[in-house]
This record gives sequence, structure tokens and C-alpha cells, in this order.
Amino acid sequence: MLNEYTYCPRLCYMEWVQGEFAHSADTLDGRFQHKRVDRPAGDLPARERNGKSPGPDDEDAQPEKIHARSVMLSDEGLGAIARIDLVETEGNRATPVDYKRGTVPDIPGHVYDPERVQLCLQGLLLRANGYESAEGIIYYVGSKRRIHVGFDDSLVKQTLELLEAARKMADSGEIPPPLEDSPKCPRCSLVGICLPDEVSFLKGSRYVVRPDDVRRLMPARDDALPMYVVAQGALVGKSGDTLTVKVKGKAAAKARLLDVSSLSIFGNAQVTAQATRELLERGIPICHFTYGGWQKGVTWGMAHKNVELRMHQFRVAGDQSMSLAIAKEMVTAKLRNSRVMLRRNHPQPPATALEEIKRLTAMVETADSFGTLLGIEGAAARVYFAHFGGMIKAGISTFNFRTRNRRPPKDPVNAVLSFLYSILMRQAMVSAMAVGFDPYMGFYHQPRYGRPALALDLAEEFRPLIADSAALTLFNNAELKEKDFIRRARAVSLTQDGRKAVIRAFERRMDTLITHPLFQYSISYRRIMEVQARLLGRHLLGELKKYPGFTTR
Ligand code: SF4
Repeated sequence: MLNEYTYCPRLCYMEWVQGEFAHSADTLDGRFQHKRVDRPAGDLPARERNGKSPGPDDEDAQPEKIHARSVMLSDEGLGAIARIDLVETEGNRATPVDYKRGTVPDIPGHVYDPERVQLCLQGLLLRANGYESAEGIIYYVGSKRRIHVGFDDSLVKQTLELLEAARKMADSGEIPPPLEDSPKCPRCSLVGICLPDEVSFLKGSRYVVRPDDVRRLMPARDDALPMYVVAQGALVGKSGDTLTVKVKGKAAAKARLLDVSSLSIFGNAQVTAQATRELLERGIPICHFTYGGWQKGVTWGMAHKNVELRMHQFRVAGDQSMSLAIAKEMVTAKLRNSRVMLRRNHPQPPATALEEIKRLTAMVETADSFGTLLGIEGAAARVYFAHFGGMIKAGISTFNFRTRNRRPPKDPVNAVLSFLYSILMRQAMVSAMAVGFDPYMGFYHQPRYGRPALALDLAEEFRPLIADSAALTLFNNAELKEKDFIRRARAVSLTQDGRKAVIRAFERRMDTLITHPLFQYSISYRRIMEVQARLLGRHLLGELKKYPGFTTR
């Protein structure tokens, strides 16, 4: 904790107060290289606090050299606890040794401040436990070199001051602001969670003033992707580090666990206990859908540790005026994005409809109740869907659209829209849970038994841009044919092949890179959805004055 605090107080708060953690290449490599030293071995001989050994004193005996690995030490006076990689003792003298991945840095003293301070705290803990500890050693695995660090008065003073400051910060319940324009951020494992430049920009920092001052410090796309299993009778298993899918006993697909961000199974498919356990351990959610695409639940490992965020989520959800303000941002964004869809995709953009949606968008600001807001959104949806069919190219697609209907959908276009909204909601749910929210407690969609209200909230502004857009692509490129639908009585649903085509179109859309309208960097829709969930979290925790809904131009 002291190491992180010295590196960046915000990092320390996120890791130790909010329980955030994310692996980076550095942390994974560090964990691998630490494997040996993390295994406890050898005992540290107990000493009395006055420095004497509790055993019989033999003045002629040579002090024995002892190496003890992975030693846990604490002291109430210091109010600190530490696991020390290695302690080398000789009689009453003890030297803590800290293992670091990588090579010796080319800086004065060859040790960074966070490591120096952490080592000194280990020395102070050894002193508090009865040893003399005048110096410590940093061992750089990459260089196979030991660098000695003396615990002089100024380092001890710095260590104790930082320890006190870290304790105060943890007690304050307030997350420290991001570092500004810092070279530390690109190497920080929590940069994608912290969003340092985005938060600074939205807070009006004097360092990040213009959109192009915002650095994109995370990859534009995710490395891991969702895996869907739509084949009926499929069995998902695990073989080593790979997820395997068998249909009727025959291998049908496989994917490295490293490349999977979530697993969605539709209808009659099963997941083995071994695969389930592995997915839970890796924090990969399993989303369960009915054959028709209704989400029935999510299997996830232990809940996210960010209790602080959930406490604020419930507090704000219970505050009508704060919830309404968030809901208004979400509805405004959704209406603006619907208007953009019509403007961009309609061969003859209907001027009166565009004007009407604009007028309704302006009315959102004046809504003083959820009822009024719902009324405005409903009116805008009627205008939008009255012209949705006009965006389907008559010469290419054999399908047409008159009005939005559902439960069950009565025509192919509505069947596709319903299915897309369902998988969009799954994505929103995964984003919400990854951030640490309770997906059932929303702000616009009011809580109701079994309804993932927050996931529905987060999906609102993306419905036109992702789901409706994917539907238009499918019909306007003639990617769906009549054979992809099942018509029974007055209900229409997708066949297995139809669902596969829709999922492919949805994933293509999620993977599309766009220029972020606020931050001006290139980023995929999938990442944007997660960024929106994180910005909502920053607002609930009081860092941002308002939730910035996502709108495109
Ligand atoms: S990204 Fe930068 S500001 Fe954020 S926690 Fe890491 S070092 Fe601190």
C-alpha cells in the first residue's frame, strides 16, 4: 500500500479502499517472477522487543545466518503490516530483501522512491520486532543484481510521513484527484479504470483543457471478446487454458480463455463444472439466455470488492432529484443519437420528424418528474420508429417495418431489434458488473423484481447507435433472408443461423472504432460502453458534477 501511495495516492485509494485491480503486462510478469519468493520457507527466529533472543545465550557461539522467505510482520505502534520477500538474519541483524522484476533502473541510487520507502517500512517493522535493521536490499531479477538501501534518518522520516498520509487518505473516504499530465499514468495498471485525463478534462483541469489534450492511455479495443454458444445441445468444457465447445460429441469450436471476456449461452447448452469454476476464477461472466434471446441470469464469481461504489449507487438511487438528473442525461443522449441515425441513414431525412425530436430533446431539460421524462421519451420513440422503416432500403431488402412491437415480435425487423436489444443489455450488464455496480439498481429504470434496471439505463444511449445500426446493416446488406426466421401464429423469431448472423453484425458494430466526440481519440463502441459506466461511477462518487451522456454527431 505504501509503495502505491508513494507512486500515486489515487492508485493507492483505488487498490486498497475500493478493491480495484487489473493485471498489466508488468503485474503478470511480476507475479510470475515472484512465485518462488511468495512460497514461505525458513523461520525467522523470534526476538524479544529489546533485541535479545529468547533462547539460551552462548557468548562464544558464532551467529548463524538464516534466510526466511515470505515473512509476514506487523506492529501496532507503526500500524503497519507487511509480507517481506526474504529476510536475511545474522544474530540480531536483519536485512529485508525485496524482489523486483526487470533490470536495475538507470537513475541515481538505482532504486525508485516507492520501492525505497516500502523497503524502509520493512526495516522499521523488523526493528519494531526486536531486530537491528540498518539497510535493505532490492534484488532485480532481470539484472541478477542486489542494490543496497541504507535506512538513514531522512528516509525513515519520509517513510513515517507517507505512512501517516496514506492512513489519513484511506480514512477520508475521498478519492484523490488524478495525477496531471504525468508520465506515470501510461505505465499504471489501473489507467483504464482511473481515466486520469478524461476525469481531469471533465473536471475542468488547467492541464487538460482541450479535447486533444486527453491522451488515450488504454488500448482502443479490448483484447478479449465475448463468446456466444447458440447451438442447441452444445457442451462447453475446458481443456488446459482453452474453452472447448462440442455439439453432439463432436468438437465445434475452441477459444483461449485469455481471449474470452464473457460467455453467452442460448437455450439448451451446458457448461461443465470445471469450465464454470475456471471462468469464475478469472472473473469471466456466463450469461444465460433462453432460446429466443431473453436473458435469464448471469453467473459471476465473487462480487466486485468496490463496496464504496455500491453504497453511493444506492444513496443516489434513493435521491429522486439526483436520479432524475442522471436519467435526463441518458434520455437526452438517446434522443440525440436517434436523431443522428435518421439524419445519417434516411434517404430523405424527414425534416418535421427531425425538428420534433429536437423539440422533445430540449423539453427533457424541463422535465420535473420521471413520468414527464417517460412521456417525452415515448413521444420521441414514436416519431423515430414512424420513420425507421424508411431507413431500410426497399430495393435491397425484402423486409419492411411499420411499427415497433414486441413480446412477441410480430415481424422479422422487430424480431431482430428485440434480439439486438437483449444482447446490448447483456453487454451493459457486463460493463456495470465489471465496474462494481449492482446491475439491478438503476436511476432511470426504476427497480422492479428481476429487472436489471442499471443495465437498461446504461444501454439507453447506445440503442440507436449500436442495436438499430446493426439491424439496418443486416437488412440493407441483405444479410438476412426469409429462411432465417420462424413464423408461428402471429409471432416471429430467429432461427439458429439467423441469430448467428445477428450476433456477427452486433459484434462488428461493437468493434467499430470511432472518434470519441468528447475526448477526440479513436476507440471502439465496446470500450466506450465501459468508459460510460466508469464515468457514471465517478459521478456517483462525487468526482464529476454530472454524468456525461454519450452522443455522436
Ligand atoms: S492512471 Fe495515473 S492518476 Fe490514475 S492511478 Fe494510475 S498513476 Fe494515478
